[in-house]
Amino acid sequence: MKFGGTSVADQAAIERLIALVRAERQAEGQREGGDARGPVVVVSALSGVTDRLLGVAAQAGAGDVEGARTSLQELRKRHITVSEVITDAALREPVVAALNREFDELERVVHALAVLQEVSPRWLDTLAASGEILSSQIVAAALTSHKLLGSWVDARKAIVTDSEHTAAAPLFQETTAALMAHADPPLAAGRIPVIGGFVGASAGGVTTTLGRGGSDFSAAIIGACLGASEIQIWTDVDGMLTADPRIVKSPQVVPHLSFAEASELAYFGAKVLHPATIQPAVARNIPVRILNSHRAQARGTLITGQRPPTERPLTAVASKKGVTVVDITSTRMLMAHGFLRRLFEVFERFKTSVDVVTTSEVSVSVTVDDPRRLPAIIEALSGFAEVAREEAMAIVCVVGDGLQRDPALAAGVLASVGDVPLRMLSQAASRRNITFVIRESDLPAALGRIHDKFFSEVIA
Ligand code: ASP
Ligand code: MG
Repeated sequence: MKFGGTSVADQAAIERLIALVRAERQAEGQREGGDARGPVVVVSALSGVTDRLLGVAAQAGAGDVEGARTSLQELRKRHITVSEVITDAALREPVVAALNREFDELERVVHALAVLQEVSPRWLDTLAASGEILSSQIVAAALTSHKLLGSWVDARKAIVTDSEHTAAAPLFQETTAALMAHADPPLAAGRIPVIGGFVGASAGGVTTTLGRGGSDFSAAIIGACLGASEIQIWTDVDGMLTADPRIVKSPQVVPHLSFAEASELAYFGAKVLHPATIQPAVARNIPVRILNSHRAQARGTLITGQRPPTERPLTAVASKKGVTVVDITSTRMLMAHGFLRRLFEVFERFKTSVDVVTTSEVSVSVTVDDPRRLPAIIEALSGFAEVAREEAMAIVCVVGDGLQRDPALAAGVLASVGDVPLRMLSQAASRRNITFVIRESDLPAALGRIHDKFFSEVIA
């Protein structure tokens, strides 16, 4: 069970977490074939804390010791207040002492960094990691004080990574061994291991982090290494939605997605979860469930490697605004080889990624969502092609495994958008999605029409 920042934001949130863990444990005790072990709890830092800690690092690096110390004092106070959720004073005192030691240490680090006026990625990791190191200690003791026998597991001992600071990759063999040594014994003893997400350490013991939002990744790594029966991502929304709620009036929660569908949706803006982060779990066939810690009764979204076909032909629609289309035309392309390589080399040289690509014999159109280097790109392309750009465009990506099964469905989707002009159109080899580019101003109409036609009936 992984709880994100808003699910451990304050005492009330942690009390909800405790109730959810208690319910899960009871359900597991009654489950047939269940081994009554677990769950393992993975937590993010209290909401906003990672941002604050990175802010402290920036202040220290800029020599602003006073600003950094003020931030640390506020953070210290917040953590001490939240630790009151540990109702048993005998359990709370050692946590508050550990917390004070951690913040004393951070103050020393800040002074050192301010002298150096430079923050290396290694120090950034040391600072950022304390958010999860603290939240996990609070939650472990809070579980115990609520008669659930939590057991804090130091993520720096349990997750072994390479030394790529701020974006470390887990070493699975070493991590499995470390988890067997540190998380399995408490599990076997009927306790509930609590591990900070996002954090690990290199084989040499230096603290690393897995990158922003990395707690989901931690949960997947831990679940995969320990062979969990399910991974639950507890967050503050009901799950993945059939469309962007800011554009479509009443989107619904998608009950069940395949991993491939989730990946396509995330690519174009569905923000709930980055599918790459749950890949270790999916590779082992472990189901991942997205759930709302504020509304435990909501059924959430289940993501599995494969998904049984449903009545519903489409799964969801993702969309992305603020896209620029670049048209590159050259008669030199006609029957010539090497043209595409030259063209894409320009985007590569200016470190700009393209999302949708369509091509005909004499022209190529691509979409770009980061226009910063476009003037330079266009200048370079102009050396061998005619280039035009069009801004304020939007990508619509209609996703559903049903598109593979029903060859007429794609045509039905396009028909439903009616008179909205399509600027680009692409169906990838997976045939799991159909993607098109329209004017941003047409987005509400297009999404609304697709949604009305394919998603309006209520899910049974
Ligand atoms: N606390 C980390 C972050 O904010 C990791 C996470 O919450 O997933 O990026
Ligand atoms: Mg988060």
